[in-house]
Amino acid sequence: QHYTAEDITKMVNDENVEFICLMFTDINGIIKNVEVPVSQLDKVLANKITFDGSSIDGFTRIEESDMLLHPDLSTWLIFPWGEEHGKVARLICDIYRTDGTPFEGDPRVNLKRIVKKMRDMGYTNFNIGPEPEFFLFNTDEHGNPTLHLNDDGSYFDFSPVDLGVNVRKDIVLGLEKMGFEVEASHHEVAPGQQEIDFKYEDALSAADSIETFKLVVKTIAKEHGLYATFMPKPMQGINGSGMHINMSLFNGDDNIFDDENDMLSDTAKKFLSGILKHARALTAVNNPTVNSYKRLVPGYEAPTYIAWSSKNRSPLVRVPAAKGKSKRIEMRSVDPTTNPYLAIACILDAGLDGIQSNYDLMPEVKDNIYEMSEDKRREEGIIDLPSTLHNSLKALRKDEYVQQSLGKGLTNSFFAAKNAEWAKYQQTVSQWERDTYMSQY
Ligand code: ADP
Ligand code: MG
Ligand code: MG
Ligand code: MG
Ligand code: MG
Repeated sequence: QHYTAEDITKMVNDENVEFICLMFTDINGIIKNVEVPVSQLDKVLANKITFDGSSIDGFTRIEESDMLLHPDLSTWLIFPWGEEHGKVARLICDIYRTDGTPFEGDPRVNLKRIVKKMRDMGYTNFNIGPEPEFFLFNTDEHGNPTLHLNDDGSYFDFSPVDLGVNVRKDIVLGLEKMGFEVEASHHEVAPGQQEIDFKYEDALSAADSIETFKLVVKTIAKEHGLYATFMPKPMQGINGSGMHINMSLFNGDDNIFDDENDMLSDTAKKFLSGILKHARALTAVNNPTVNSYKRLVPGYEAPTYIAWSSKNRSPLVRVPAAKGKSKRIEMRSVDPTTNPYLAIACILDAGLDGIQSNYDLMPEVKDNIYEMSEDKRREEGIIDLPSTLHNSLKALRKDEYVQQSLGKGLTNSFFAAKNAEWAKYQQTVSQWERDTYMSQY
């Protein structure tokens, strides 16, 4: 929806909005927020609200710390909660320097850069349908999360086993009030695990929606006395939470990934070849936490090998048996700890590289990769996804193309943040190590 400054002013008055949240994300995809009272509305609409960028992870050096918030008026919405203290609306912002230039270190600004590259190549939309999964945990008397899962349900279970059903309903209603087109919501495979799917949107809106989605889920879960987490693998021994990314390139209403026989078009195959080519480096961006790699292990429906298939769900990329407008490819490694602006920018740019270069597309894998021998995998040219954050960072270091998809500033701050995270983890001695080694040695 496109709004003018006048529209926004009118809605503020008609709806008695009291506060405006100006939102953006840091390098980790964490929502940052400057809340202003409506008395500041004119300043907001004139792009004159500043904040101190040096206090945000991955932003700027101290000497250029003042940054400007340029709200994207099409992201206007009123939160469906907290009204007893005055209605709160939000606007998602791009970050600009005080000299009026867009700041490339802002993940949203960077995604716009890659989308522009796509448009220059003659496509109008990169459609993204995400499938975020999350766990609901019970809380203790202080409201802190416990390790007790909210229910014992499993895939597509129906109440009364599925205690998640009421909170899921409220989340879906909250999302719909905020303009989401929710396609489905269901209990996932693991106890306490939920999935809510919403309709695909163009790259930038989809990234905005993923961020908003996480906020809505956490807020409404809390109202139910529950704790929602998007951590990929909170519990060992059961499935982790992913966020499959379904994608397609459109030109107007025309799905470029579909051909006249309802097969993947040549462009789609080239796009896919680019994704596979850069898959190891993309993993650093799509699975950016230490914990991400506890999910990417065999046996729990998460991919561990770089391959594609239309027949089964074991490889990195699946081509669902969908037709026409629904023709798409699905990247199954991505998890909800990714910064969606970075992930979508890098995936799109990798696909565009595939379209521009002439990489060989490996043949589709027809068998379950997990049942193949290592020799057989080698024969078919199937290589592993990185198995740790450390390994995926090394892969990103080697892949200059994906670094260029992030741009220099974001690449540097990404490595700074993630190398520090890995070093900290690496120095941690876990209970597993004590249990295993203490008495043995
Ligand atoms: P799965 O079979 O993997 O569980 P879901 O039905 O849960 O898939 O989710 C499919 C997602 O794909 C939805 O978000 C849907 O809107 C999205 N989708 C459908 N068509 C397209 C398309 N052409 N491009 C991108 N995403 C699409
Ligand atoms: Mg699904
Ligand atoms: Mg489905
Ligand atoms: Mg799922
Ligand atoms: Mg899926």
